[in-house]
Amino acid sequence: MINELNQLKALLESPNRFIILAHKSPDGDAVGSAAAFFHFLSNISCDAQVVLPDLPSDTLLPFMADTKCLYFTENPGDVKTLFEESSVLICLDFNASSRVGEMHSLVDGFKGVKVMIDHHPEPEPFSDIMISDVTNSSTCQLIYECIELMQLTHAIDQHVARSLYLGIMTDTGSFRFPSVSAKTHQILADLLHTGIAHWQIHQDVYDNNRIDQLQLRGYAISEKLVLLNKLHTALPVGYISLTKEELSRFNYKTGDTEGLVNVILSLEGIKVGVLIQEKSDGIKLSFRSKDGVFVNELAKQHFNGGGHKYAAGGISFDSMEVTISRILSLFETLTF
Ligand code: 5GP
Ligand code: MN
Repeated sequence: MINELNQLKALLESPNRFIILAHKSPDGDAVGSAAAFFHFLSNISCDAQVVLPDLPSDTLLPFMADTKCLYFTENPGDVKTLFEESSVLICLDFNASSRVGEMHSLVDGFKGVKVMIDHHPEPEPFSDIMISDVTNSSTCQLIYECIELMQLTHAIDQHVARSLYLGIMTDTGSFRFPSVSAKTHQILADLLHTGIAHWQIHQDVYDNNRIDQLQLRGYAISEKLVLLNKLHTALPVGYISLTKEELSRFNYKTGDTEGLVNVILSLEGIKVGVLIQEKSDGIKLSFRSKDGVFVNELAKQHFNGGGHKYAAGGISFDSMEVTISRILSLFETLTF
């Protein structure tokens, strides 16, 4: 990694125009890493602009407030021009150009230097400088470690710290997943030393629900949760499926079902949770698992997706019924 970081540092010290890009449907780690890298580059007087493929949820959007950010869905023309005029593309929290949706051709065709900073398994070699640490809790933690190794921690102000805290917090389930290490806590302590109000970040993200959102969650758990631990499956699985009609009944907005799949996994004895949601472009699948049951290969091989061992996602273009029966028959063949 030292060699890659020397190359990155040389780019920071030259007169480049940077684009910072994170993945489609950005989560806390994607938003946090994009915002943190923007503030970090601004603090060392680099010319930077953030691009996101689409808007984050209303909860995460305020974290982009002090950045210069373009959204491809809102402003495709300006994003294309920016890609022609910039010299360095920093790709954060994704490791395959397919993760930026329709923007993948802009990434593939980018003429300047591409840098990837990411923690997902099986990175694809689409970048010139690849900084990949699949054991890291989050891209935000990895960014902190990169800044530290480049000896640039003086550029970590409260804007950077708050953004990095957001990504580490969300990608570790509030510091409780096995990916959390002593180093994670050391970094969090360093971030707190900048004087950020860490409790405010928790409150902004987790105590900001709309009533529709809470009622959708209540409905999903009480009416739509199916448990297969006592039936014929070898693996104790729970799933929730939500149709377009059900989502719109509760005035669904992006992010409203965030965390719902983890509720399934919180059930005693359950090893896999699946959230199945009908969206405009297909049936979106979220898989979560624990105790040595891995879901990323299944998401990759059967549902055009991928992710981490214990948290993966994908998409199905079959109907809801067919998708559910495909998932169930796959879990029947898995032994535990
Ligand atoms: P979520 O269920 O929260 O949408 O996604 C969980 C994790 O699965 C994400 O952090 C990401 O790593 C991965 N993931 C989700 N959707 C996709 C997808 O379509 N393709 C790939 N490769 N990974 C995905
Ligand atoms: Mn991440």
